[in-house]
Amino acid sequence: MTSDLSDQALICSAKGCRLPARYQLHWNNPRLHTPDRRKVWLACDNHRDSLADFLLARGFLREVIPLDDADTSLQRS
Ligand SMILES: [Zn+2]
Repeated sequence: MTSDLSDQALICSAKGCRLPARYQLHWNNPRLHTPDRRKVWLACDNHRDSLADFLLARGFLREVIPLDDADTSLQRS
């Protein structure tokens, strides 16, 4: 059984959520990461706000990028 990462759907990072991701949340924990390091969470429409709020509350959130902009190949026709 082969598994090709490029074929896997991007799934929301929220715990227990299996919805397709629509956003990338880029974040950085200054206590753990160098300033140019970016961690990436994926978020569906439902969890974008709660995940962003979680990171914002800790001062970790750097940017939120819609996946349509991050990778146009994911756009549906
Ligand atoms: Zn979700």
